[in-house]
Amino acid sequence: MEKPKNDRQKAAYGMASNCAFMVRRAWRDCKGVLVVAAGIVFCGVAASLLELFVVPAVLEAVERGVTPGGLAGMIGWFTLGMALVRALREYLDNNAIFGRVRVRQGLCQDLHLTFCRTSYPHVEDPDYIRRLKKAFRCLDGNDDAGEYIWTTMTELLTNLISFLIYLLLLAQVGPWVAALCAALSAVGYFAGERIRSWRYRHREEEGGLLHKMEYAVRQSNDMKLAKDIRIFGIGPWLTELYGKYTRLYQDFYAKSQRYYLWGDLLDAALALLRNGAAYGLLIAMALRGELTVAQFVLYFTAVSGFTQWVAGIFAQLTELHRQSLELSTLREVADTPEPFRFEDGRPLEVKPGHLYTLELRDVSFRYPGAESDTLSHVNLTIHPGEKLAVVGKNGAGKTTLIKLLCGFYDPTEGQVLLDGEDIRQYNRRDYYKHFSAVFQQFSVLAGTVAENVAQVMGDRADLPRVWDCLERAGVADKIRELPQREDTHLGREVYLDGIDLSGGQMQRLMLARALYKNAPVVVLDEPTAALDPIAESDLYQRYSDLTGHCTSVYISHRLASTRFCDRVLLIENGGIAEEGTHEELLKRGGRYAYLFDIQSKYYKEGAAEDE
Ligand code: ADP
Repeated sequence: MEKPKNDRQKAAYGMASNCAFMVRRAWRDCKGVLVVAAGIVFCGVAASLLELFVVPAVLEAVERGVTPGGLAGMIGWFTLGMALVRALREYLDNNAIFGRVRVRQGLCQDLHLTFCRTSYPHVEDPDYIRRLKKAFRCLDGNDDAGEYIWTTMTELLTNLISFLIYLLLLAQVGPWVAALCAALSAVGYFAGERIRSWRYRHREEEGGLLHKMEYAVRQSNDMKLAKDIRIFGIGPWLTELYGKYTRLYQDFYAKSQRYYLWGDLLDAALALLRNGAAYGLLIAMALRGELTVAQFVLYFTAVSGFTQWVAGIFAQLTELHRQSLELSTLREVADTPEPFRFEDGRPLEVKPGHLYTLELRDVSFRYPGAESDTLSHVNLTIHPGEKLAVVGKNGAGKTTLIKLLCGFYDPTEGQVLLDGEDIRQYNRRDYYKHFSAVFQQFSVLAGTVAENVAQVMGDRADLPRVWDCLERAGVADKIRELPQREDTHLGREVYLDGIDLSGGQMQRLMLARALYKNAPVVVLDEPTAALDPIAESDLYQRYSDLTGHCTSVYISHRLASTRFCDRVLLIENGGIAEEGTHEELLKRGGRYAYLFDIQSKYYKEGAAEDE
């Protein structure tokens, strides 16, 4: 398998930076998370110290000849302390989740917003999408990095503070004991770290495999594919595909676990060396009478505890490292440079009643990674209020032309101009305000009819305007028949009482939405694809009415559908092959006339057969 080239890239943000990031987020969204975390660390350290000192303190009291009552009191205080610390810890653990979920949800919301607002080319960039999915994965649930990192950080801090206290204690036995323990621990950590980072260095490979696995699962769950899956028996193929990528992922996972195992073995060997040396020294000192029984027990417990803290620190650091890498991906996605200007661009408000001139000046465009240009040196001026039709075979580049006009892509060469000004200088979101559109893929949301037309929550929709647009789009009668008229929910994915509209009705609803926006330029990309011939001809007849005084661009592969337009462009071989009115182009007897002839013959024959 070819390795993605950025496999070896370093994470943009380190562990400390990611921890600081989370702390800042908690400070902003829910300070309680920090208070609870501090409380948990306090309880952890307090519990470990109480456990460490209870036996030596009792032994020392016995050596001092304390009365049985005094001894019982002492044990009682220790027990009470431990019980209180445990109860507090339990309480904090149970309540920690609420704030942590809030912080994670805040991150999730921001990531959704990032995706909704990022430059359009990112949406079609598989690499961006893969990174985005990975980023979302770290916010999926309570056990994912975006939330679980709090547990890791508090445990790490508990381990670190306890480690330092134990280290100070051991320094009293002899500074070199503490130094030896600390040095061997450090060597263990850094060597282990190098071994364990293998998975991160191969994170792109992992992301690619997960993406493919998810794709297979998504396809089998996709309602839109349900019919094809049955008719073409795609099920086994999807299962096989899933099986193949699952096996590849399992291999990858097993390999990464082998690296972790080597890291753990190294830790174990170094711990053996460290403890062996420290125990040996303590026994020798006790034999020489340099330590009391209480001191011997205290230091001996400290050495064993030390191993526990060091192991804990390693485990938490490894965990934190993993989680930090995931958070780094999340932050990297949010930091991805935007090819378009947004708030940093010139503001551009829609001038009411003004009709704009749109121009493509010597525009060439090549999709990222493609071997040739989809459009090459195209020059086109769309005059104010003009009704332009763009026709051409499938794959000719009609949609691409629209993407450039609407500002979804910037040309590879040349300029797109609005009233003579290059659109790249403007805030792209302001530029989009000038367009209304019906694209081929419907984006009906689970909401009411009125919400889908007005694109705001139902109570804020201008209902008379909604009905006027439904009327003009020719779908008002259908909506009137629905149980709750404009308040009827669409789709059954979210609402059990939702209804499904037919493809044609949906397309008309999208048309109503486009009309509601009332933008100066209307783009209709194959708006009749899902309509029956009668509905299609009805739309043609009302086209001028629908688009009003707006400038409109109408895309179709049906040449006959362009008669009502002021000008027709035939796109072929990456450029404008012919242009003129429908009649002019027919008279010219060129490519358009030839293609029209074939199409009309087909339709006539089709009609004859139907009869
Ligand atoms: P039309 O709308 O005329 O059917 P398109 O503009 O959709 O044609 O596509 C023109 C060409 O560009 C096709 O060859 C298509 O494969 C290619 N293309 C379209 N979208 C992309 C994309 N996102 N990435 C790469 N190539 C694309």
